[in-house]
Amino acid sequence: MNILILGSGGREHALAWAVKQNPKCDRLICAPGNAGMAVIAECAAFDINDGAAVVGFCEENAIDFVVIGPEAPLANGVADRLRAAGVLCFGPSQQAAQLEASKGFTKEICDAAGAPTAAWKRFTDAESAKEYVRQQGAPIVVKADGLAAGKGVVVAMDEAEAFAALDDMFDGAFGDAGAEVVIEEFMDGEEASYFILCDGENALPVGTAQDHKRAYDGDEGPNTGGMGAYSPAPVLTDDIAARAMREIIEPTLKEMAKRGMPYQGVLYAGFMIKDGQARLVEYNARFGDPECQCLMMRLGAQALDLLLAAAEGRLDQAQVNWADDVAITVVMAANGYPGAYEKGTAINGLDALPEDSMNMVFHAGTSLRERQLVATGGRVLNVTARGANLAEARDRAYAMIDQIEWPEGFNRSDIGWRAL
Ligand code: ATP
Repeated sequence: MNILILGSGGREHALAWAVKQNPKCDRLICAPGNAGMAVIAECAAFDINDGAAVVGFCEENAIDFVVIGPEAPLANGVADRLRAAGVLCFGPSQQAAQLEASKGFTKEICDAAGAPTAAWKRFTDAESAKEYVRQQGAPIVVKADGLAAGKGVVVAMDEAEAFAALDDMFDGAFGDAGAEVVIEEFMDGEEASYFILCDGENALPVGTAQDHKRAYDGDEGPNTGGMGAYSPAPVLTDDIAARAMREIIEPTLKEMAKRGMPYQGVLYAGFMIKDGQARLVEYNARFGDPECQCLMMRLGAQALDLLLAAAEGRLDQAQVNWADDVAITVVMAANGYPGAYEKGTAINGLDALPEDSMNMVFHAGTSLRERQLVATGGRVLNVTARGANLAEARDRAYAMIDQIEWPEGFNRSDIGWRAL
């Protein structure tokens, strides 16, 4: 079949790498793609957030299946446009993607489904929001309702910090995304993520993971899109995961179906885990980046069969063949990231690295200039390895990093520390 993957990050390179290994894949196109994806797929340039453009491309190129990587096309209704045009597609509808695009929506669904999550309230003006903060006291969590690229959440340790966040949001720091604000109880515990494929009715877990959001070793420094991850997450034990499926995921899917917006795609559940129980922090409507790189490394070619089963409503007949292994990914980012950084710096040494089912470098912000690989983004490479255990996988990943020549880049040296 002819398959189109939308996106240009490490997540999409990992999806493309797994899909490409499956004999069902005849032709693979990535839009817009990156230098890593260009090695295994054709790359096409068009606006992936424009439903009409995506449908038009699919019709011209006889695309049989579209996998939507990032959240923006989902929030823009690209999956709806594809389905309306009769193109098979992996990714939730615009309505269902509200589980990521609106924090208030997710909290309403949790309440209706009886899913354990932080107590919350929604506000549209600063004064009543501040009054609520005074009543509840700190620590407390202030969230812009809409998508804000990870910057719309403030875990306020005192009232003044919460007030400042509220002033920012209601003054328009996040545009429309901050016109409504959710204030939540602060939850203590350890965070982990759970990835569940959904076909509108059935759910199939495809792995757990933990990521590292801070830029520097020891979980210090500014927040980033993610500097590394590993899968599975030991804290999300089989028992806790099974209970979370019963108490959180399945009731959520039932509630979504009941509201006429069945969820089809991957549901990425962020949990706070304490005393043997998971509570929901957030949902995302797509795979995590860099968590997806670990999951794809562990799943390999069967990933395509699973994505197709989700898109075609056949997940009740699908199963994951798990190798009892661990995967880790270490992000290499441009010096200065997540602040200002230089673009166009040369990266060398990748050609000498192994590329197989145990070792892969997934590209994010890269491109080729006159046959020289250069960095064009903040997060640039995702050095990913598998092993029988985390220490083995980690050693493999860092051995690859030692051979990559990119003086203008940096990486954390402690990915996986919590689980090790
Ligand atoms: P954005 O919408 O801006 O992209 P996001 O989706 O990343 O943000 P969340 O995942 O809801 O936002 O929150 C970001 C982080 O804030 C969480 O990973 C967690 O560490 C912390 N956090 C969120 N809610 C709570 C809570 N109720 N208690 C404690 N920590 C929280």
